[in-house]
Amino acid sequence: MNPVLTPATSASLIRGEVAGLPSYDPGADPDRVAALSGARRVIKLSNSESPYGISPAVTEAVRRYLAGGVSRYPDPTGRRLTEAIGRSLDVPAERVVLGNGSENILELLCQAVLDPGDLVVTQAPGFSLHEIFPRVMGARVEKVPVTDGFGFDATAWRDALAAGPKLVFLANPCNPTGAMLSAGQLEQVLAGTPESALLVLDEAYGEFARPNPEYPDGLEALRALDRPWIVLRTFSKAYGLAGLRVGYGIASDTALIQALDRVRTPYNVNQPAQVAAVAALGDQAHLADTVRRTGREIARIADRLRGAGLRVVPSSTNFLFIDTGRRSDRVAQELHRAGIIVKAWREPGYENHIRASLSTPEENDLFVTCLTEICAKGKS
Ligand SMILES: *Cc1c(COP(=O)(O)O)cnc(C)c1O
Repeated sequence: MNPVLTPATSASLIRGEVAGLPSYDPGADPDRVAALSGARRVIKLSNSESPYGISPAVTEAVRRYLAGGVSRYPDPTGRRLTEAIGRSLDVPAERVVLGNGSENILELLCQAVLDPGDLVVTQAPGFSLHEIFPRVMGARVEKVPVTDGFGFDATAWRDALAAGPKLVFLANPCNPTGAMLSAGQLEQVLAGTPESALLVLDEAYGEFARPNPEYPDGLEALRALDRPWIVLRTFSKAYGLAGLRVGYGIASDTALIQALDRVRTPYNVNQPAQVAAVAALGDQAHLADTVRRTGREIARIADRLRGAGLRVVPSSTNFLFIDTGRRSDRVAQELHRAGIIVKAWREPGYENHIRASLSTPEENDLFVTCLTEICAKGKS
């Protein structure tokens, strides 16, 4: 006898984990904000993109690649890029994995490692994909709060790690706060992470923090461990290649890389991105210039905002986490009318905060002027 089959609807086909997922917030659409504000040029401070452009070597490398046509598939092994990364960090290329952005590697790690019901530990406020990708796999996510001053809460981390996670996502510097963990704090996480867990250190903003002698070298710290780990980095932020989507991971061993290779789509990093990343890595002077200019602007704008009475978390990145003193979605809407896009934070307890990455000095000044006016008006 045939079983009685209920006709499917799209909704009935979707796994429960997926139906309940929070959506990733990419920030407001620049075209919509342009139409709303009538601004000739939208100031986009929502996605931590580089205002300083890419190395001329990148432009040239991509141009040369495109001149040869795009009819061939990319190199599925990304050999030239993994070798260049390996040389620059003194690790074997076989321990480097490439992703369509480092986000892609976060996703692959979850697919390769997590069973339904597994525990993942990360920080709050935090990067939403550190929660979304584990939940897609049916894992539980425990978010460790920061201290009142947006610092590392050693006790809360110790307790969360003691609950036996399978995967630990730690961002240093942290997004959205911009705060940096010290060597001692990183050491506490490493020491507290059970040996049964995979430790993932997300250094998406590491290039901005590296000039600070207090910023711990995550790769050095993890290399000393006799257990599985991976450090994630990206060409999206300081290198300015966000539109091409290329990130990488350096893993403790080749077995982890091989597992990621099995789950990833074979051509996950397109060839212009591979070519561009090799060229970007080769121009460390351009990177240093971006980092130096960013650091100067971050300090200057944080000072100006504090001078206007706003609370701003000390940042080791290219963005600021700002307490606007009122509902930040309203603040963001008012900024939209001025042609400025920031991210209004949505995590519970932080709904008064915006995250704003910086642009050129002129655009940053305009942002400060608009934001301080909006916040002052909100008070009166
Ligand atoms: C931006 C970001 C990433 C990844 O960006 P990709 O463009 O996918 O390389 C990863 N982690 C954090 C915390 C980020 O802010």
